[in-house]
Amino acid sequence: MILLILKRTLLVLLILLVIATGIIVYRTLQLSHDIPDVEPVTYADINIDRAVERLSEGLQFRTVSTQELSFLYRPEFDDFIDFVNESYPGIHETMSMERVNNFTLLYRWEGADPELPAAMFQGHYDVVPVEPGTEEDWTYPPYSGTIAEGFVWGRGAIDDKSGIFSYLEAFEYLIEKGYRPERTIYLALNHDEEIGGRQGARQVANLLLERDVDIAFLTDEGMPVAEEILEGLEHPIAMIGVAEKGYVSVELTNHQEGGHSSMPPRETTIGTLSMAINNLKQNPMDGRFAGLLRETFEPLAPDLPFVYRMALSNLWVFGGIIEERLGYVPHTNAALRTTTAPTMFNAGIKENVLPQTAQAIVNFRIHPNDSVEEVVGYVRETIQDETISIRVLEGAREPSPISSSTSEPYLSMKHTLHEIFPGVPVAPSMFLAATDARHFLEVTDNLLRFRPIRANPDDRGRIHGTDERIGIDNFREMIAFYIRLIENTTGNPGFVTGE
Ligand SMILES: [Zn+2]
Repeated sequence: MILLILKRTLLVLLILLVIATGIIVYRTLQLSHDIPDVEPVTYADINIDRAVERLSEGLQFRTVSTQELSFLYRPEFDDFIDFVNESYPGIHETMSMERVNNFTLLYRWEGADPELPAAMFQGHYDVVPVEPGTEEDWTYPPYSGTIAEGFVWGRGAIDDKSGIFSYLEAFEYLIEKGYRPERTIYLALNHDEEIGGRQGARQVANLLLERDVDIAFLTDEGMPVAEEILEGLEHPIAMIGVAEKGYVSVELTNHQEGGHSSMPPRETTIGTLSMAINNLKQNPMDGRFAGLLRETFEPLAPDLPFVYRMALSNLWVFGGIIEERLGYVPHTNAALRTTTAPTMFNAGIKENVLPQTAQAIVNFRIHPNDSVEEVVGYVRETIQDETISIRVLEGAREPSPISSSTSEPYLSMKHTLHEIFPGVPVAPSMFLAATDARHFLEVTDNLLRFRPIRANPDDRGRIHGTDERIGIDNFREMIAFYIRLIENTTGNPGFVTGE
């Protein structure tokens, strides 16, 4: 009798196992691309040589943002503005231009139907400095704008002068062709993104709010057409940044009696604080493979090796393992959770004196699932030490809301990508750094942080680093992308989404 029950139980288990395996395999094989069959668009008559010349010249202006920069005297910025105005006569004649806070340029192209909500294109022409002592490491001098080996080289070639020059080329092209937008278009070329955008983007946002301008969507720099983001993945993927992480720095301070280092007590300020920081690093905030992150991975799944495909299409079984794997790699970990980065540690004045105070700063980039308050609560709970005081530093901000990935502007950008980058999947994703777009949260719900720049892992080090460069073929794609995006979002009859 017992044997019979055992046999039956085993049989039931076996059947369940077969069913579960069946479901896993079935779901894995169900995966397929949702890339629609659209007619590629190329614009064979783009004058790429002229465009490359203008970009090269633009890279030669040292429009460098530094924290201590004087706001009064910036001849390089003035020269750059003169250069733009002289180089794009069509824009100069057709669009109105106002200088916001002297150096940010806000262009406006009046639409045939002023009642329609406007479209807005934004970028920045300031660049980060070249780190002193690394100038010689550049293959071509950083402000030479050298055209060589199929690239244009120079500080700003990726971030973000290729962005604003592809806008300028696209607008000039359309004006030459006699294009007339249905909705009004704004084009903002900002001058202080690299130091927070408070003089540029923030003021433009204030102006638009003051004037009660209705903006349908804003597109800005952001995520790229990413290549080789996962092992075994051959396709690039275009990621549209629909959200931005929040930011908070927390200062931790511990006071104790100091004294001579010959007879140290069990507890010292450095020891106590080190323990607290180690606790924070070992116990990061929770991350979940859900929501936006999951949406980012979905279009990738069909191209992955079988094991990954199986895991991604059966999260009910493998969700935990995926979260663990993503947590190991810095850039996927940053997409998964609020990150913890101890950035400063100050204690001690002399080798044989126990410091009475130790102080550390930990910087958190906040995932949309968390908030500033939750981060501070987590810090308190995790370090579990009342002798450490916790202070939130100025400049904290909440993560942005997530822009819709089913809105007309999003779908129109997605459709444009399919036309200009045939066969490349498109996914909504989170932008892991900060952009000027964050100043426009009250201006529009649809913030699309994206540049059609092809970026492989090697390129990531060039942004803000040495040998920044943009491929000429890619620059041509960028121009074509913006021409098409302007047509698809500002023409008659409304947003073209291909649906
Ligand atoms: Zn930038």
